[in-house]
Amino acid sequence: MDFAFSDNQIMIRDSVRDFAEKELLPKYQYWDRTGEWLTPEYIQKIVDMGLLRLRLPEKYGGEGYSFVDCGIVCEEIGRADHQIRYIISNAIHLGEMASSLHPELQEEWIPRIANGEMMSLAFTEPRGGADAGNIVTRAKRDGDHWVLNGEKTSITFTGVSKVVFVSARTGGPGPRGLSFFCVPTDTPGLSTTNFERMGQKLDRGGSMFFDNVRIPARNMVGKENEGFIWAMTIIGYNRNFVPLACIGAAQKSLEETMDYLKQRQIMGKSASQWQGVAQELAICATQLEAARMLCYKALSLKDKGLRHDAESSMAKWWGVKVANEVLYTCMRLNGHYGWAKDLPHEQRLRDCLGMESADGPREVHLGIIARDILGREYAPF
Ligand SMILES: Cc1cc2nc3c(=O)[nH]c(=O)nc-3n(C[C@H](O)[C@H](O)[C@H](O)COP(=O)(O)OP(=O)(O)OC[C@H]3O[C@@H](n4cnc5c(N)ncnc54)[C@H](O)[C@@H]3O)c2cc1C
Repeated sequence: MDFAFSDNQIMIRDSVRDFAEKELLPKYQYWDRTGEWLTPEYIQKIVDMGLLRLRLPEKYGGEGYSFVDCGIVCEEIGRADHQIRYIISNAIHLGEMASSLHPELQEEWIPRIANGEMMSLAFTEPRGGADAGNIVTRAKRDGDHWVLNGEKTSITFTGVSKVVFVSARTGGPGPRGLSFFCVPTDTPGLSTTNFERMGQKLDRGGSMFFDNVRIPARNMVGKENEGFIWAMTIIGYNRNFVPLACIGAAQKSLEETMDYLKQRQIMGKSASQWQGVAQELAICATQLEAARMLCYKALSLKDKGLRHDAESSMAKWWGVKVANEVLYTCMRLNGHYGWAKDLPHEQRLRDCLGMESADGPREVHLGIIARDILGREYAPF
């Protein structure tokens, strides 16, 4: 077993950290406070850094990153601006989807996303997101077209994405009756609304309404009625990117908090020299390292083509939980400053708390792990 990053991975980590600290971190609190959307110049920096081409096909300038490499990028981006991870992981998903897209759709959408246009992925519906196999949005075949009707909600980049990859029922009940479609967001019949959330302002969460949205038959992604299995296979790895970005944010807060506590004098000595404080910091460091290892183990299994569903679920629920606990501890150890909006800890906590639900709540992941350790016949689902 090898627990060390390769020389190339260390280079990726250092260069992305350097970029993110210089270009993304200074704007992190600005986007949250103003509610403004990213400027074209800001997006261009992400494009120029190659972060939207990590796993695209070679002919579109793909960088050939492994999943572990991509995890490193997500962790480093999370240190600076947790929200930007979504843009990067969506581009990774597009790379995974590419071979399932009609060649004309590949030609149209891959360069656009690689050049900084936004895309959305829409599974969740108002009646529930955790049970993603039982959606009610419908797609009906009409000659050379599909016609979509239904509603999706809590969708990242609603209102700013140019294309949405959406699940809809094309067959019988359950996960084996679903297909995926590529829908340009300016298609007639598609409308959106945004809602306010406590964090991740850039995420632009909102609802998408499909009212007789008519798209060419070639816009089906992958095979009819195989959409759910296909989607779960191609984005299962995302359950590691989500916690890694939270771990990155928590690690950054921990480092800032340690710097502060070394300087802060409490009754004649550094705050960090009080044993209770030092132990809390040591516990935070231990938890983050253990959570990080779970994520990279699962991604390394994915790179080797091995099963990684239980490992990814462990990484998702526990990694997000640990990161949020560390962020809360950091806020507390910074005293009243930690709770103030001048410091980024409270925003990081607000941003990362949402990740408890995103990509499945912990109960779903505990169910997946239980199925793995108990066997399907003795597990809840
Ligand atoms: C920041 C953010 C970004 C998101 N972006 C997207 C996006 O881009 N696209 C998209 O499609 N969705 C997105 N989502 C939605 C997300 O995927 C859903 O929140 C998630 O799937 C859970 O669905 P739900 O919130 O409807 O909760 P529900 O499915 O209603 O579940 C509610 C609660 O019930 C419990 N529960 C659910 N299932 C089980 C079970 N099997 N066993 C035991 N208890 C259970 C859990 O406590 C859960 O929190 C995003 C969410 C957030 C917070």
